[in-house]
Amino acid sequence: MAQDKINIALYWGAGCGGCDVAVLDIDAAILDVAAIANVTLWPIGFDTKYSDIEKMPDKSITISFYNGAIRNEENERIARLLRQKSQIMIAFGSCACFGGTPGLANVTNKKGIMEMVYTDQTPSTDNPDRVFPSKHIKVPEGELELPDLYDQVFTLDDIMDVDYFMPGCPPTVELISTAIGAVMKHVKEGAPLPPKGAVIASDKTLCDECKRKRVETGRNIEKIVQPYEIFPDQEKCLIDQGIICIGPATRAGCGAMCPEGNMPCRGCMGPTKGVLDQGGSMLSALASIFNITDKESQLSEEDIEKLLDQVKDPLGTFYAFTLPKSLLKRTYTEKKKKG
Ligand code: SF4
Ligand code: SF4
Ligand code: SF4
Repeated sequence: MAQDKINIALYWGAGCGGCDVAVLDIDAAILDVAAIANVTLWPIGFDTKYSDIEKMPDKSITISFYNGAIRNEENERIARLLRQKSQIMIAFGSCACFGGTPGLANVTNKKGIMEMVYTDQTPSTDNPDRVFPSKHIKVPEGELELPDLYDQVFTLDDIMDVDYFMPGCPPTVELISTAIGAVMKHVKEGAPLPPKGAVIASDKTLCDECKRKRVETGRNIEKIVQPYEIFPDQEKCLIDQGIICIGPATRAGCGAMCPEGNMPCRGCMGPTKGVLDQGGSMLSALASIFNITDKESQLSEEDIEKLLDQVKDPLGTFYAFTLPKSLLKRTYTEKKKKG
């Protein structure tokens, strides 16, 4: 291993793998990375043993990019191992930053998921003997161990100190290139890195980078429509056409690519700067736009019910990427037996 190179690691927790593929999307720039870095761990790329990483001195990896949420024992074990071995830990992608789409599983718990997947609650499951995965399995070669699934999905910073956050599902090539450029300058020229805790994206809202024309005053939309119910005008703001677009509550940085493609934003870049709860922020914004209240900070339960009555999938609409990081964190509670 060349001593003049830094060590980096990339790891895939509870996610879809799209973040790993996004790294490859930087094309030839990956050669610049190879010129300054040894990739010590990248399970999608090659076979490194965890024991090899365990043997490395603490803090000997300069930067670890962790994508995916924390959903099981293995996700947490490797995240902690990388934290111990790394100087800088980056939550890479919306799953690591906010829970992402896997975070929607916080509407249930481990038992609920197992029942759904391994019993006849799904049309494709044929399991009359109700066989469920076991943590320990004996095979001719020995005993195998499966990591235990947690009752809920956690974000990376729920379980450890995180240095930087790079949102997006997945982060765009531009954001990845910006981050790599900053690392290269830091390594080659000693340029300072952004302050700890920084979000590597824009501080503006998505609406600020969206080219669609908005009605600036007196917005008063009566009815919410689904994107498939109309042919949206390509120039006008989607909200002004009755389609819920999460742009007002979403951080800019993706170039508003979904509205650009005539589809509403679903919020994958996460909440805007300083906002804790993206879904709550969007609900407040919508309530005023849809003529429910003009006092965004004083939404009554009745106001919220009036709005939600028109939304087909409120949780999936307002918290598609951020449920574990929201003020709700999870919606599952044990039902109390009546009587
Ligand atoms: S952020 Fe999106 S692309 Fe990345 S792992 Fe999660 S679901 Fe996949
Ligand atoms: S609400 Fe959506 S469509 Fe309208 S300006 Fe914002 S991002 Fe664009
Ligand atoms: S428009 Fe919204 S959902 Fe689409 S990529 Fe950008 S932040 Fe994500």
